[in-house]
Amino acid sequence: MDRRQFLRTGTHASLAALIFGSGSPQAQAAPSSGRKIPWQNWSGYLKATPSGRAAPRDEDQLAELLKNASQTIRPVGAGHSFTPLVPTDGTILSLRNFRGLKSHDPEKLTATFGAGTKIGHVGEPLHGIGQMLANMPDIDEQSLAGAMNTGTHGTGENLGALHAYVTGLTLVTPEGEVMKCSKDDNAEVFDAARVGLGALGVVTEYTFQNIASSRMRRESWIAKLDDLIDGFDELSAKHHSFEFYYIPFSDYGLAIAIDPTDEPLTPPRVETDNESAEELRMLRDYLGWWPGMRRWLMNTVAKDHPREVAVTEWYNAFPSERAVRFNEMEYHMDRQHLLPTLKKVRMLVEKHHNEVYFPCEVRVVDGKSDDAMLSPFYKHDSASIAIHRYFEDDPLPYFQTIEPIYQDLGAVPHWGKMHTLDASTFAQRYPRWQEFLDIRAELDPRGIMLNEHLRTVFGV
Ligand SMILES: Cc1cc2nc3c(=O)[nH]c(=O)nc-3n(C[C@H](O)[C@H](O)[C@H](O)COP(=O)(O)OP(=O)(O)OC[C@H]3O[C@@H](n4cnc5c(N)ncnc54)[C@H](O)[C@@H]3O)c2cc1C
Repeated sequence: MDRRQFLRTGTHASLAALIFGSGSPQAQAAPSSGRKIPWQNWSGYLKATPSGRAAPRDEDQLAELLKNASQTIRPVGAGHSFTPLVPTDGTILSLRNFRGLKSHDPEKLTATFGAGTKIGHVGEPLHGIGQMLANMPDIDEQSLAGAMNTGTHGTGENLGALHAYVTGLTLVTPEGEVMKCSKDDNAEVFDAARVGLGALGVVTEYTFQNIASSRMRRESWIAKLDDLIDGFDELSAKHHSFEFYYIPFSDYGLAIAIDPTDEPLTPPRVETDNESAEELRMLRDYLGWWPGMRRWLMNTVAKDHPREVAVTEWYNAFPSERAVRFNEMEYHMDRQHLLPTLKKVRMLVEKHHNEVYFPCEVRVVDGKSDDAMLSPFYKHDSASIAIHRYFEDDPLPYFQTIEPIYQDLGAVPHWGKMHTLDASTFAQRYPRWQEFLDIRAELDPRGIMLNEHLRTVFGV
């Protein structure tokens, strides 16, 4: 049975639609004009009616625009964040004219891309010059700048978040200065701007330290959740990239392992389409009120699910398409808290939230050498649990049940995913918080990059 058949069998949908769906970004930027163009994020949860749109041609035009701004300017990537980092009544600024591979060094395996480049448009050019991004998230719709500015990550025992591989960037500051930043040049701003929430200015390009391009073998399988939990450390250590999803109201989880290989390419992976969304909702609607039957059905289906193996070029191995839109909360915690916390999340979901069907995603990030000031992985081994709610449902009751679990752990939220924390908590959890605030105030004395959300986050 292939994955498409699997999906069509109704009850299987909840295992797979979130994980393998397909999506289309909602955010669009257009050049300034008299007409106000509404904006919304990917899930449709965030909306704004900016008075202006801008898409500067080059750094000179961008610098002029920032220097002369009299109202808030918020850079946008692909609008895939769930936190209101972008919404403003002022101007939304697109980097769509800053895209593509600019230069590379074949010996050092570094490459420089325009900051507006979509992650999905990085793969082929990089592969063409024998390079591969060291890590990737589970979709590739984001812009590079959007991904870096929120600490976007993938999963892997020895893999850092994406910004951990940035060796240089160009920042156009709110006062219009074009600043080259690296460990050797403007090092403090470099440490701040790698994960900068779009608050320090506009990044126009990034240089990445990559690794040699490789074909990857992606294997996914359903296993007993208890086995995945017990075997997590071993599986995580064994694979280049490993994650699993806990499937609510079942005793199973879905594991995904990705490793370099020399094996021949296989036919492309089958992705699901919008029918999955329908099936997911049906399962919740028909059986949400009867958890015993739901669990029995889910378990019956899950235990016979075949392993799937695909060998692809690296850039096709990591990302999936997302057909089913959702809102998401993800917290990053010390690695040692991961598995006990997952058990608590599971207990609360199954006790209080029959309506939930989206799997919870469990990942790890190696942050030991990550020194970006606002990196959620700052200098420690980190692990993450992400929970999701269908985009038409109110996500807050579910998220409000789960979020308090993280508070005692000193966990921090993904900057692009829903949370309720503010400056007072961040000040305790980020050792270089004040340093970041000082740099922000210095670079943006007029506060033109601040919207309401950032004022709360920074306590301005
Ligand atoms: C379906 C889906 C799957 C996801 N999967 C993952 C995942 O696997 N791992 C993960 O960690 N996250 C994941 N995310 C979250 C996502 O990676 C982040 O929210 C990311 O920021 C989105 O990138 P974007 O280009 O859409 O940025 P936006 O959401 O448009 O912007 C994000 C931030 O970047 C700033 N910004 C954008 N461009 C610039 C610029 N040129 N200069 C300065 N600041 C800028 C914005 O102002 C904003 O603060 C996922 C989100 C969705 C919707």
